[in-house]
Amino acid sequence: MFDKILIANRGEIALRILRACRELGIQTVAVHSSADRDLKHVRLADESVCIGGPSSTESYLNIPAIISAAEITDAEAIHPGYGFLSENADFAERVEQSGFTFIGPRSETIRLMGDKVSAIEAMIKAGVPCVPGSDGPLDDDKERNTKVARDIGYPIIIKAAGGGGGRGMRVVHTEAALLNAIALTKTEANNFFGNDMVYMEKFLETPRHIEFQVLADKHGNAIHLGERDCSTQRKHQKVIEEAPAIGITEEVRQAIGTRCANACAEIGYYGAGTFEFLYENDEFYFIEMNTRVQVEHPITEIITGVDIVAEQLKIAAGDPLSYTQDDIKITGHAIECRLNAEHSETFMPSPGKITQLHIPGGPGIRFDSHIYNGYTVPQYYDSMIGKLIASGNSRESALARTKTALSEMVIDGIHTNIPLLRKITEDKDFASGIYNIHYLEKKLGM
Ligand code: ADP
Repeated sequence: MFDKILIANRGEIALRILRACRELGIQTVAVHSSADRDLKHVRLADESVCIGGPSSTESYLNIPAIISAAEITDAEAIHPGYGFLSENADFAERVEQSGFTFIGPRSETIRLMGDKVSAIEAMIKAGVPCVPGSDGPLDDDKERNTKVARDIGYPIIIKAAGGGGGRGMRVVHTEAALLNAIALTKTEANNFFGNDMVYMEKFLETPRHIEFQVLADKHGNAIHLGERDCSTQRKHQKVIEEAPAIGITEEVRQAIGTRCANACAEIGYYGAGTFEFLYENDEFYFIEMNTRVQVEHPITEIITGVDIVAEQLKIAAGDPLSYTQDDIKITGHAIECRLNAEHSETFMPSPGKITQLHIPGGPGIRFDSHIYNGYTVPQYYDSMIGKLIASGNSRESALARTKTALSEMVIDGIHTNIPLLRKITEDKDFASGIYNIHYLEKKLGM
C-alpha cells in the first residue's frame, strides 16, 4: 500500500478520500486554492500545499502546480476525486509520466471512454446495449445525416462527443430543424469542449437513468456492485439518487452488471467506474461511462458493504480486488440527497457563511460533507455542500428516514435546496419509486 498520497480535489470528496486514507494508514497531502485554506480536509491532512488562486484554473485545474506539490511532498499517488481533472486524460498521462500513480484507470482508457463516440464503439464491440444512433461522428454530408436521422426515427438527440455536465445536447423533433441543430451543436461543442465532433442518437422520451457501479483490478478481475436510479434530475444534473432501482430484478441486475464487468476486462479497465444507461420499456441503453468515483457512490457502499474509495486505493496500489462477484449481496435500500448552497426556487448560487448548523442523526443516517459551523462557502466552485444519505431495510424505511433527517437539518446563513428536497421526498409520485428523467422538471413546471 502507498505511504502517502496527494488529494487533488476539494470539498466533501476530498474529505471522503482523506478518511479512507486514514483508515488504511496512508498519509495525506491536501492541495488547495487560496480561497480554501479553511476546508476541513486541509486542516486534517498530514500536509497541505496552496497551489494557486481561488479560480479553478489557477488551482484545481492547474496541472503543473499539482505535480510540483506531489514532487515536493514525496507523494506516491494522486487521487483526482470527481469533477476537476478526474476525467482529464492529459492529466492522468502527466501524472504517470512524472512517476506517480494515478488513482484511476490508464490515461488511454480515460481518453477512449471520455470521447463518447469511441466509448459507444467500444461498448458495441463489448456487447453492451447502446442507444440506436449514428454509430460514429456526423460529417458535413447533409444528405447522409438526413438519412441517418430518418432511419433512427424522430425525435433524435444531437450530442457532443466531448460533452459532459449535461451540456452540448440538442433534441430535434422534425427533419426541418435537423441541419440547423447539427450546426448549432457543433459550434457549441467547439466553444465548450474544444472539440466540434457530434453524433446522433434516438431521443428516448420517458427513460429512467440507471447506472451500474463496477470495480476492476490490474489483474483482469472485474465485478459489478449493482445499480442506482438517478432519474431525479434538473437540467440533466442529478438531485436525488437511490439504490437499488425499483423494479430491477436480480436476474436483470446480474445480466446487465455482468456485461459491464466483462466490458471492463475487454477494454483493460481498472479502478472504480460507472456505466450509465437509459432504461425504457424494460431495455437498457448505454449512454456513457464515468471513469472515476461518483458523487452518489455512498448509496452503493451502503447496500453492498463495499468501501469504494478504499477499493480504489487498493486497486491503484496493485492489490487484487477484495471481493468476488459471489461475495456481493445487495441488502436494504439507500437514498442520497445532494445538498446545494443555492436558492431553492431560483437555483441561484448562495455562497456565504454558515451561521448555524445542525446535522441530523439516528439509525441509517450518513452525512458526507465538509461544512461546519462558521464555514464560509466560497463563490468560486460547484454549489454542492454535502450529501445526506439515508438507508433502511426497505425503500419505505430509507425514505422515512430521509424525510425525518431533512426535517431536522438546519443550515442557516445561506440558502440551500433543503426545501426542494423536502418537497420531492414528500411527493406521492416520488414515493411510488417509478419516475423517469422528466419527473422533477415536470413537478417544477419547467
Ligand atoms: P453528460 O455527460 O453531459 O452527463 P449524458 O450522456 O450522461 O451527458 O446524458 C445526461 C442526461 O441527458 C441523461 O441522464 C438523460 O437525462 C439525457 N439524455 C442523454 N441522452 C439521451 C437520449 N438519447 N434520450 C433521452 N435523454 C437523453
